[in-house]
Amino acid sequence: MIIVLKPGSSDADIEDVSRRVKGMGFKTHLSRGDVRTIVGVVGDDRAKEQLLALQSLDCVETVVRILQPFKLASREAHPDDTQFKVHGVPIGGTQLVVMAGPCSVESRPQLMAVAEGVKAGGAHVLRGGAFKPRTSPYGFQGLEEEGLKLLSEASKATGLPVVTEVMEPDKVEVVAQHADILQIGARNVQNFSLLKRVAECGKPVLLKRGMSTSIQEWLLAAEYVLAGGNPNVILCERGIRTFETSTRYTLDLNAIPVVKKLSHLPILVDPSHGTGHWEYVSAMSKAGLAAGADGLIIEVHNNPAEALSDGPQSLKPDRFAKLMAELRPLAQVLGRSL
Ligand code: PEP
Ligand code: MN
Repeated sequence: MIIVLKPGSSDADIEDVSRRVKGMGFKTHLSRGDVRTIVGVVGDDRAKEQLLALQSLDCVETVVRILQPFKLASREAHPDDTQFKVHGVPIGGTQLVVMAGPCSVESRPQLMAVAEGVKAGGAHVLRGGAFKPRTSPYGFQGLEEEGLKLLSEASKATGLPVVTEVMEPDKVEVVAQHADILQIGARNVQNFSLLKRVAECGKPVLLKRGMSTSIQEWLLAAEYVLAGGNPNVILCERGIRTFETSTRYTLDLNAIPVVKKLSHLPILVDPSHGTGHWEYVSAMSKAGLAAGADGLIIEVHNNPAEALSDGPQSLKPDRFAKLMAELRPLAQVLGRSL
């Protein structure tokens, strides 16, 4: 349920409504729009009658049942787009965000070369995996904590905030010490204990769509993080499994306008995992932005032929810079900036 307050409601009105709702055993989430404030009611909706009675308060315009199963993630509960900053980098406004870097952190020289390369190309956030979810147990599993330290070093050297994946609840604390954004990978989107743990860590969360996750399931995964008290969730479409084998996955561009309609959360596109081939990354980056994405996350490697993971889908730094130069005028046409 949401309680929509009348325009011009005072802080005391908001406080009064929140207190009454909490008194019924619910949690509240405030959404202050330009005109209206909405009090989101989180918890079991069965005490509906009690909540509906709040309609009799002078400051309440209406009490509405949210029809979507995801409540806090829904646009009904939060009509304005979510926007926030990560170390001064805007996420979710008219300014597009580009996160770029290697699939895996492999060594200091590799990470530094790629970090400097993506910074020169105009990236806003450095990506790089230290804990790697690999399909094969024989694949490179990541440098783990050593990789996190290298990411911190690269972040200091370039001034770029860092996004990196966390795979286990017990590692959330150490990853959060080094990362500015915690990535939940496609394979962990429904790892509910991990979602609850990242909800508590206070850092923004980049939540990738699972390769077989419906949009509703994905938004319910986001709901775990929001309901756990962390409002800073960034969604990321990274391709879903279909019958098509010419590309690694099928980048579901439909998901962008659908998510924009259903949710207020910012959404990025990952054309690297979405296609699996560097030659298609440029076209799908442009398509993703044209479809309304708030930014991109792109794999870049200084020597893709020898990369320890995802070399075939990685751009070299010069190709990344060329792509960024092509995206700038596109952003302008779309009424965004880059
Ligand atoms: C990655 O970003 O390197 C990664 C493993 O992504 P995904 O979870 O989308 O496969
Ligand atoms: Mn990868």
